[in-house]
Amino acid sequence: MDQLLHLPTIFVFHACSTLISALLVGTLWRRRRDSVLLGILTFAATVGFVGTILHAMRGALPFPVSSGLGLGASMLAMGLFWQAIVVFEGKRPSYLHAAAGAIIWACLFFTPLFQSSINVRTTILGLIMGTYSLLGALEIWRGRLREPLPSRKLAAGVHCARAVVWYVVLVGTFAFGPVYTDQGPYPTWFVLASLAQTLLIILSVITLMILALERDERRSRLVSERDPLTNVRNRRSFVAEAEAMLSRQSAPAALLLFDIDHFKHINDTYGHAAGDKVLMEFSALLEGRMQSDWLLARIGGEEFACLIPNTGISEGADIAEAMRRAVERLHTAVDGRSVLVTVSIGVAATDEAAPDLDPLLAAADVALYQAKTDGRNRVRRHVPGFARRTVLANDHANPNAANQPLGHKRVTRADGRN
Ligand code: GH3
Ligand code: MG
Ligand code: MG
Repeated sequence: MDQLLHLPTIFVFHACSTLISALLVGTLWRRRRDSVLLGILTFAATVGFVGTILHAMRGALPFPVSSGLGLGASMLAMGLFWQAIVVFEGKRPSYLHAAAGAIIWACLFFTPLFQSSINVRTTILGLIMGTYSLLGALEIWRGRLREPLPSRKLAAGVHCARAVVWYVVLVGTFAFGPVYTDQGPYPTWFVLASLAQTLLIILSVITLMILALERDERRSRLVSERDPLTNVRNRRSFVAEAEAMLSRQSAPAALLLFDIDHFKHINDTYGHAAGDKVLMEFSALLEGRMQSDWLLARIGGEEFACLIPNTGISEGADIAEAMRRAVERLHTAVDGRSVLVTVSIGVAATDEAAPDLDPLLAAADVALYQAKTDGRNRVRRHVPGFARRTVLANDHANPNAANQPLGHKRVTRADGRN
């Protein structure tokens, strides 16, 4: 084992891997100078490389340089790596926190106990390095709710493993004896721990890079899925998600189709920017009433859709009615004036239409059309067997006109859409 795993060779391997990491992130940083994350990582890897070299030359260099400066630099590198993760999670880095371990090390270094006892030095080293690793793992893990990325578990696990190895060194010192002796070979358990630590450092850099790639992918996916004005889903992603949702479940699902009433009039009266503000506040209001498994989208200019799983038409209509009333109470402030809006809502459910999205959308559209022709600012359920017809002047006067069966009149909408 001693011939196979030679500690100075592992130190050289360790130094080479930190050098490669420094060159890799340094090259990325040259291209993106504004990235604080890459800047800190480059600094961390460079300091780590210098620390490892100094410590590896412990036979040739004076003790304060190899152990004092060398291990102090390694602690600073570890603290910086933790702060790089803090930056990755969108927070401000604290260089004092990054340097705290090295400062503690420097303060203790010249005490007699520290100078005389390798076990005390190893204990402090293990405590500081293990705690930094644990803090890095916690930071990555805490970010999962705000930003779920597939490799968070792996990255946090790697940092936890680093902490475990450092705590093993700490405990091993007391259980098996000092990690270095003046005479004799290095203890095998410490050689193995050093090798594990080296491999874990490489893995921690790789997993952080993977997280960064996953973040980029997630952001571009979200951009392509979202409506830029209201930040709710756009029509395309709604269709994809809704089709997947409907194919997964056999229970009925309710579809609510919203169309803001006389929205063109709002634009004409208050201006397009005011119309935009109404749209944003309207969608925020709907979004605030969504449950986690409901699907909300802006599917047209002032048209929104909401798919509610495991819900029949009656329950769907009750939900729609509550939303309609909430919209009635919505006051959008524009230039000191209050803009009021109302919404018409068509409701359909999969137990009466086919369980596919297209007929469900068509059925909800028929119900929405009925809500419009019945005078707007109301909820209408889809009644099977009836379809959308031409609005004649007297339809507005006759609330039941839209309930005439298909074929009674030609099937077209007042706005010319079919
Ligand atoms: P109805 O009660 O029949 O639904 O009448 P309406 O005026 O709401 O419907 P219409 O389809 O005649 O007009 C919709 C208007 O919505 C027309 C269009 O200019 C406006 N619109 C569409 N997208 C946007 C947008 O992103 N911002 C703003 N401000 N207006 C928009
Ligand atoms: Mg419309
Ligand atoms: Mg409208």
